[in-house]
Amino acid sequence: MRRLGRLRVLQALCEVGEVSRGDLLRHTGLSRATISSLVADLVREGVVREQSAASSRLGRPPLVVSLVPEAGYAFGLDIGHDHARLILSDLTGTPVWDDSVELDVDSSADDTVAAAAELVEAASEEIDRTRVLGLGVGIACPVDRRTGVLRAEGIMPSWVGAKPAAMLTERTGLRTLVVNDANACVVAERRYGVARHCDDVVYLRLSAGIGAGVVCDGRMLLGHDGLVGELGHVSVDPNGEVCRCGNRGCLETIASPTAISRLLSRSWRREVLNAELMSLLLAGDRGAVRAVEDAGEAVGRTLAMTVMALNPELVVVGGELAAAGEVLFDPIRRALRRNSVSDLHGDLQIMASALGDGASARGAAALVLSAALVLSETPQLLTIDKV
Ligand SMILES: [Zn+2]
Repeated sequence: MRRLGRLRVLQALCEVGEVSRGDLLRHTGLSRATISSLVADLVREGVVREQSAASSRLGRPPLVVSLVPEAGYAFGLDIGHDHARLILSDLTGTPVWDDSVELDVDSSADDTVAAAAELVEAASEEIDRTRVLGLGVGIACPVDRRTGVLRAEGIMPSWVGAKPAAMLTERTGLRTLVVNDANACVVAERRYGVARHCDDVVYLRLSAGIGAGVVCDGRMLLGHDGLVGELGHVSVDPNGEVCRCGNRGCLETIASPTAISRLLSRSWRREVLNAELMSLLLAGDRGAVRAVEDAGEAVGRTLAMTVMALNPELVVVGGELAAAGEVLFDPIRRALRRNSVSDLHGDLQIMASALGDGASARGAAALVLSAALVLSETPQLLTIDKV
């Protein structure tokens, strides 16, 4: 019972941040005496502190309980198709270090792991390394939930059969957990971003790869193999381009920034880079606007199926393409309405990610923090169903 109580207190502190003892009472359902004793233990261990709340009112300010930021740290690594980005979070989830390298991730697994290990080395110089709780990784590839092996065929050729957690542990000496990047993103948005306090969320990442992370009733949905949310490879155009996965007309061949730039490059017979896309939209270029609107329409149709299946309260759209704003969001909303029973989903919100590019790394670090704080007595580093 005491372990369960401790777990509830730490969970509340993780989720809410600074809380009064009264708030802890409400959040945990524990008695005042139990909370006093648990908080005293945690203060003694140096994990939690109790101090006066900043208050403008006269009189004695109330005491608030919070995690001690420097009591522990977690690394969060985002491995995309062309970059590795490392964030170091303190115990409260606040980033204290952030750096990235560009490299061809898809065709160089070993180089990517080596580059990530160098980033970890550099960040470790800033802190007491003994306080690092582990390394969380969000990777742009499906991850088998039982074996940790990447399902990288056609997606990240040099990673086929790879177990990145083992590779990174060998190089860094850190306990490592690996999830698909969209899963890491949904955790980050729920903990720190626009989906706070929301128990039913779909996060859709529109980057070079497209994928979704799903939280349902407060739990991350992983599915039989851990492959929930592979929406990038839903076919939306039977006559479309052949996708890198081998199917035809996948959402990814229409709605990834890379696909849009490729389309414009072909039409205009000059190379259009992803980085140029946003300035073309800002300038109101008709071709670029049309391509992004069509992408939004395809995304909306795909989301309609997802929404009918999962009934989320909120859909968060992230990845580079989310920066297109209403040019993208308008057609998403229209196609969603047209292809679902919109009366049933009148309250559904579609919002842009609040955390942008950093979501995957922050979410991966958050999973390590949750695991270390809440589940530290379990043999595995992490059970990721509770986020
Ligand atoms: Zn595909």
